Amino acid sequence: MLRSFIEVAPDSHFPIQNLPYGVFRPRTGGGQPKIGVAIGNYVLDLAVLEEAGYLKSTEAAPIRIWSEPSLNAFMALGRTVWKAAREEIQSLLANDNPKLRDNAELRARALVPRTDVDMLLPVEIGDYTDFYASRDHAANVGTMFRGKDNALMPNWLHLPVGYHGRASSIVVSGTDIRRPLGQRKPPEAAAPMFGPSRELDFELEVGCLIGKGNELGCPVPITHAEEHIFGLVLVNDWSARDIQSWEYQPLGPFLAKNFATSISPWVVPLAALEPFRISGEIQEPQPLPYLRHNGPHSFDIQLEVYLKSESMQQPERISAGNFRHLYWSMAQQIAHHTSSGCNLRVGDMLGSGTISGPRKESRGCMLELTWRGTEPLRLGSREQRVWLEDGDQLTLSGWCQGDGYRVGFGEATGRILPSSL
Ligand code: MN
Repeated sequence: MLRSFIEVAPDSHFPIQNLPYGVFRPRTGGGQPKIGVAIGNYVLDLAVLEEAGYLKSTEAAPIRIWSEPSLNAFMALGRTVWKAAREEIQSLLANDNPKLRDNAELRARALVPRTDVDMLLPVEIGDYTDFYASRDHAANVGTMFRGKDNALMPNWLHLPVGYHGRASSIVVSGTDIRRPLGQRKPPEAAAPMFGPSRELDFELEVGCLIGKGNELGCPVPITHAEEHIFGLVLVNDWSARDIQSWEYQPLGPFLAKNFATSISPWVVPLAALEPFRISGEIQEPQPLPYLRHNGPHSFDIQLEVYLKSESMQQPERISAGNFRHLYWSMAQQIAHHTSSGCNLRVGDMLGSGTISGPRKESRGCMLELTWRGTEPLRLGSREQRVWLEDGDQLTLSGWCQGDGYRVGFGEATGRILPSSL
């Protein structure tokens, strides 16, 4: 097994097999943002290694790729460079390579404890699209709103349903979330009203970051779709259900979703997920040819959600599921998204949609976990929840379990602040 000279606990999310990229700023010294990879409890500062002439794979780039405030310039260099850079960084961290291991001076400058840095948004996200690709989620929501016999809409098994989201309000993990204001009309109310949302929810999702765009008018064939993926992050697509149910017809979600979306700071490269590639759900009926692919196109990623209220000492796990339950693969989402001729660009993010599984504990949002409020969630010994309340801290976590190591995403966390009214 590949090992690093840096000690990494077996349950750490960041062994040498992972090496996710992120943008960080040292907490002291007021430094500029720069790019690093996570290794154990450290960030490996790639800007320092670049300056020392240790990173040959990106030397040909016209700018200092690793001193950039986002990953976009590196992503735009393409897959050959992604592969070479990953191999080079992996080799520099390997326990049998003395180059960095035995250079105490450089090591001291290049390895920064993760507790000493602030993580920033890793990518400048131009466009954000959110799908609705988990069958269990769509069926649960459909059952609640339309009954069991009409749970899935007629299009659902034929195309990955999605909508264009809002990129400007995507925030990095740790950013507080202000309870949104909005217009709602409860069924019993005679007229709509305006005020703080009373049905604030989270959505457990995984985001796919596009590393290679396509020309306007030129769809990406499904056989090449995965080549456009740079890496994945955890996504919490915060949602205001009361605003959503009043506003969404006929054009879909709008203000109920655009007030905030949290992502994890570390982008796990697709290459790190390869050992965990598995087949997705069986698709019946067979999709149309432009959405048809053979072989394994899903990944075995365990996903968890934790909630900690203001009065709780410890966070409590409220959901545990798996990415494998997505019905429509990321490749199918890309092929479908571009099938009209729509162009994706480097830095775009595609959200998977809420990921729920077949078991009750694997439901990926409060709407499902509490079955639209009819089954409140018990927290600890004294509290219960129907929707999220002010002061609640919500944390998503995810990892792939290898043999003696984990390839993890870290976490995407956010705390609810009271509304501004
Ligand atoms: Mn969503």
